[in-house]
Amino acid sequence: MSTQPARHRVVIIGSGFGGLFGAKHLRHADIDITLISKTSTHLFQPLLYQLATGILSVGEIAPATRLVLRKQKNAQVLLGEVIDIDLVAKTVTSELLNMRTVTPFDSLIVATGAQQSYFGNDRFATFAPGMKTIDDALELRGRILGSFEAAELATTQSARDRLLTFVVIGAGPTGVELAGQIAELADRTLEGTFHNIDPRDARVILLEGAGAVLGPMGPKLGAYAHRRLSSMGVEIQLNAMVTDLDARGVTVKDADGTVRRIESSCKVWSAGVQASPLGRMLAERSEGTEVDRAGRVVVEPDLSIKGHPNVFVVGDLMSVPGVPGQAQGAIQGATYAAKAIKAGLKGQAPQDRKPFKYFNKGSMATISRFSAVCQVGKFEFGGFIAWLAWLALHLYYLIGYRSRIVTVIQWFVTFLGRGRGQMAATEQWVFARLALELVNADGQDSELAGAVGAPPSVEQAPDTRTG
Ligand SMILES: Cc1cc2nc3c(=O)[nH]c(=O)nc-3n(C[C@H](O)[C@H](O)[C@H](O)COP(=O)(O)OP(=O)(O)OC[C@H]3O[C@@H](n4cnc5c(N)ncnc54)[C@H](O)[C@@H]3O)c2cc1C
Repeated sequence: MSTQPARHRVVIIGSGFGGLFGAKHLRHADIDITLISKTSTHLFQPLLYQLATGILSVGEIAPATRLVLRKQKNAQVLLGEVIDIDLVAKTVTSELLNMRTVTPFDSLIVATGAQQSYFGNDRFATFAPGMKTIDDALELRGRILGSFEAAELATTQSARDRLLTFVVIGAGPTGVELAGQIAELADRTLEGTFHNIDPRDARVILLEGAGAVLGPMGPKLGAYAHRRLSSMGVEIQLNAMVTDLDARGVTVKDADGTVRRIESSCKVWSAGVQASPLGRMLAERSEGTEVDRAGRVVVEPDLSIKGHPNVFVVGDLMSVPGVPGQAQGAIQGATYAAKAIKAGLKGQAPQDRKPFKYFNKGSMATISRFSAVCQVGKFEFGGFIAWLAWLALHLYYLIGYRSRIVTVIQWFVTFLGRGRGQMAATEQWVFARLALELVNADGQDSELAGAVGAPPSVEQAPDTRTG
């Protein structure tokens, strides 16, 4: 019989910035790590919009977590959606198809991030996908390119106009990046490739409920982005609240109360986020822990939850004043939690931990090729230099040399030439999500059926979620 004491067991939930960087930071520790995630990859969300607009492929921005951690002998990776966290028994229950796995832990890092919020109008998702997952981005690519294809075949001007009108809802960094890229796709890449339509006739409309583009980045950078997008032909409509959405368009209410309609087949939602439901579950199970309005866990100064000093919540799921929902917040939070776990192994008591301190390294957003905005401390600048800084930073944080090399090649193709290397799109990318929803709704929801075009075969498709 072994006399070796059992190794400390760390469970990490999520393979995003928080989960992966937490695991990597613990690579030399004498522990056993189990990283559980419902996705098999580490997704680099900041470049999702390039996946959606045909610049990059899935492989470049989403390497398999298992391969990334291949050499880390103290870590194993489990694919599965966490459905339960028992803080008393100290176990995490995850599910893959109909297989359940219960994993015990001594320390837990929860980094399950956030998902799209439709502010209570979840049915909007049917017509305006968000930009959070690989599926979202590929569906969007299919919808964008599919709209041009359908416009080529349209027999009336009104149908052509509707198909060539792209509405991006929300003028934060993601909305700005997407609007800019759809405009460049139409003006540069697709120009001259159709017979019946001129892709340059496409309208790209950026709707924002507040009074400025890139509000959190301040008036100077917001104004810069506004000017640059306008010069590219993007129509920016501020103080415009979306009140309804359907397959054929958007209903908008302006600040003066005017209600109007924009006919558009292709809409994208980039207006809000809500935390993963595991945040609320943790709060309900640890007395005194609360969630904020977005469902993020209000953590203790050491990122743990009340009464459970070895349960850490990091990244987009944590609510810490002054820490934005950005990659840096997740990386720094995960690094802090990993250090606290390592210090605990050396005997440090939880009450002796120094509070988590966030170091703001700044933020940036691209607008178009050769143009970005950048904020570092008091410095705010826009233009080519900001774009170069954006390029370098994103390459630095991409995981893997191969991804970096291929990404640089793809960027050369796109930014110096007119082509894009990833213009494939399939019908399934566009319809699979809706079809699955239809299956789950037992084919009874007539609105969904209308959106999908009610293909009869869809109702017989196997429900892969339940195996
Ligand atoms: C389109 C877009 C653009 C962005 N651009 C930028 C940018 O330019 N700069 C920047 O700093 N930040 C940007 N962000 C924000 C940044 O990506 C996030 O702040 C960061 O990813 C948060 O990391 P995280 O680990 O908390 O969550 P995520 O990276 O979202 O990872 C969550 C992980 O948890 C897993 N998961 C979720 N629920 C479960 C469950 N129940 N069971 C098991 N696993 C689960 C998911 O599969 C995923 O692996 C952007 C985000 C988006 C969506």
